[in-house]
Amino acid sequence: EVRVRFAPSPTGQLHIGGLRTAFFNYLFAKKYGGKFILRIEDTDQTRLVKGAQGQISNILKHYDLEPDEGPVVQSERLNKYRDAAEELIENGHAYRCFCSSERLDLLRKTAARNGEIPKYDRKCANIDKNEALKMSENGEKCVIRLKLDKQNVSFKDGVFGDINQVIDESDAILLKSDGFPTYHLANVVDDKDMKISHVIRGMEWLSSTGKHHILYKSFNWTPPKYLHLSLIMRTATKKLSKRDSDAYVDYYNEKLGVLPLAILNMMIRNGSGIRNFDPNHFYSISEMVENFDPELLGRRNLLLDSDILHKYSRMAFQNSSFPEIYRKICEKFGTHDEEKVRKVVEFLRAKEENFGNLSELAEDGPFGWMLFENNGENVEDTEILKKIDSWKVEKIREVAKSHGIPEKKLLEKCRIALIGRKKGPPVSEIVDFLGEDECYRRISERL
Ligand code: GLU
Repeated sequence: EVRVRFAPSPTGQLHIGGLRTAFFNYLFAKKYGGKFILRIEDTDQTRLVKGAQGQISNILKHYDLEPDEGPVVQSERLNKYRDAAEELIENGHAYRCFCSSERLDLLRKTAARNGEIPKYDRKCANIDKNEALKMSENGEKCVIRLKLDKQNVSFKDGVFGDINQVIDESDAILLKSDGFPTYHLANVVDDKDMKISHVIRGMEWLSSTGKHHILYKSFNWTPPKYLHLSLIMRTATKKLSKRDSDAYVDYYNEKLGVLPLAILNMMIRNGSGIRNFDPNHFYSISEMVENFDPELLGRRNLLLDSDILHKYSRMAFQNSSFPEIYRKICEKFGTHDEEKVRKVVEFLRAKEENFGNLSELAEDGPFGWMLFENNGENVEDTEILKKIDSWKVEKIREVAKSHGIPEKKLLEKCRIALIGRKKGPPVSEIVDFLGEDECYRRISERL
């Protein structure tokens, strides 16, 4: 049975690469009739960010990538990791280490002075394990370390092919002195415990995978299959910086208001696992699932490109169903006036082919006047507006002329009276959208 998981750490805003990982896990699960599971890797208590877990669930929901199981929360399963670490002590692959941080510091400094790579000297591996157990029961602080002999680890990655890693480092800490596991232990124990068949994750974890294989071997477990995904980058050589707001998922929904399917379409482009990918087609999730082929997952990084994002935002607005767009507008702006929203959407679809970012419908956004009635600035000298008895540009031109004021000035007055803004869309477009009756109503309210 195919069982895949998305395993984010709730340490802050979800990165756009994290969403891509979740998405490909989802595609993989759906393609093979498997299960997509959410696991929260929150064992590094110093890096937890309040609310981050809830935000991850909301994002999956927003993108229609809801998990079939979970969330499995690691901090609620500490016993499992402790038992697993004890098992490794029993079979001789791990040991308790009581070395103080001062001693470890000293080892590091000495190594650095000799120009060597610092490596723990395994002093505590010589303590008899029953003795070590007693010491820890007597309250002596210790960690549990995995013995990492210098070795080559070879394995096959579903995307990157044959991988050969040289492991030559300190015996890895599996369990910290506070009883929390480290990433490596919890990750491996849970993948086994949750019967994960395929681990699909960002390629920044490829370098840990050799160590994970050693852990599987130490437990005498069979490892799952691994597929590491290429990264999302700024340019071929430049990573996304942590300071860039567009590196985080929030930006696309909160700031731009891009429809979720636009982002998913952006992520499957360019060698990203879709058979006969057509860049001019807007894919629904079920079409993506249907055409997904993990054999086609490319090694090339995905570059963020604002033009392409915009292209898909526009396509998403044109192609998503009305209920879907309505739902997002309600979520975003708290409006529930379906009739009005329908009118706005139909108008924008027909007349504004560049429209794609729902945030432009915010009260102060360029199209906010369609969704929100706003009395904005004051109109001075309203008398002249009474003269406009037909909302045609020719009429406005005529009134301007007969009153000896520049046409532009009068159009500005009209705009203020109609939508409360001095600057904005052409009056003809406003009239087109509101209809003449509504224009009269708004003007009469201003007089
Ligand atoms: N907790 C890791 C992360 O934040 C999970 C890596 C993995 O999927 O194994 O990405």
